Amino acid sequence: MSMGLYAPYITPEMEEHRKKIREFAEKELAPLRQEYEEKNLDGLGKEFPWDLYKKIGERGYLAEHIPKEYGGKGESFLKEIITIEEVARVCGTFSVIVDYTPTLVCNPLFTFGTEEQKKKYLPPLVKGEKVGSYALTEPNAGSDVASIETKAEKKGDKYIINGYKKFIMLGNIADIFLVFAKTKPEAGARGITVFILERDMEGISFPKQEKKLGLRAAPTSEIKLENVEVTSDQILGGPEQENKGIYVALDALDHGRCGVAAQGLGAAQAAFEQALKFASERIQFGTPIISFQAIQWMLADMAMRIDA
Ligand SMILES: Cc1cc2nc3c(=O)[nH]c(=O)nc-3n(C[C@H](O)[C@H](O)[C@H](O)COP(=O)(O)OP(=O)(O)OC[C@H]3O[C@@H](n4cnc5c(N)ncnc54)[C@H](O)[C@@H]3O)c2cc1C
Repeated sequence: MSMGLYAPYITPEMEEHRKKIREFAEKELAPLRQEYEEKNLDGLGKEFPWDLYKKIGERGYLAEHIPKEYGGKGESFLKEIITIEEVARVCGTFSVIVDYTPTLVCNPLFTFGTEEQKKKYLPPLVKGEKVGSYALTEPNAGSDVASIETKAEKKGDKYIINGYKKFIMLGNIADIFLVFAKTKPEAGARGITVFILERDMEGISFPKQEKKLGLRAAPTSEIKLENVEVTSDQILGGPEQENKGIYVALDALDHGRCGVAAQGLGAAQAAFEQALKFASERIQFGTPIISFQAIQWMLADMAMRIDA
């Protein structure tokens, strides 16, 4: 989806949107990239760019597809994907900000949440006032989602949640969590329920953050859930959604993967532009190296793969 090349689904209005985001990203985000990288050299993500998160939210660039009545803009999901791609073109970590909570938390809240849940949780997430996390992965359950061991036991009108989540992006700084837990363990994939947890609920802690090599300013955390008590109102979609969490997991990942693909595309576009610039400026054997056919082939392959 690079600017100016043939892209059948991209309307002139979307190209305008791309230009606007590109200008914003180059002017307001790119100058801070190095600063946040250097502040987070240990990879633990202790210095999260709160200033940028809030600014991006205020500009309305978080979860643009969420309808206006819940704080969004009611734009197409494709437009949101263009935003993610353009932000990734200037910085990987900042693209997590526009991708993660919007696609993996706002989208499931909007698609599966009750009216009350949407009104309560979406506006602060979309405005960048709060951060949301999607807590599915566990030490023994990665690709094999159905094998999660976190349990939510029903006791009277309450559920008691116990378990351990791993690799949770923005986990230790999030305000709102979509937590996947087994409510009917013997039913496997059909015994999973999604609970909306809030940071100040008793029993939630963040024992460890990963030391990452990339996306350094965005923390990735473990989450311990110890006798966290909730009512059935905290089930995403309400009590009738009990044991239907696998559909939420898969739908959210479908949207999340579009965002991750856009991040990859934005990063590839940036790499191509830098390679093109360097090859045009670097002189060897008395000529810019771009005049050598071997270099031209590499650049042509890059451009072709990005456009495809
Ligand atoms: C930076 C980062 C952020 C993350 N953020 C989150 C988050 O916010 N929330 C969350 O819930 N999770 C998150 N994750 C977890 C991520 O979703 C998991 O890493 C992913 O589901 C894979 O699980 P795993 O790492 O345990 O790998 P495994 O499932 O153990 O897989 C190991 C390898 O085996 C391969 N493999 C597995 N099964 C098969 C199969 N059937 N056929 C062929 N090959 C197979 C995999 O492709 C992989 O190469 C994050 C991970 C990272 C690295």
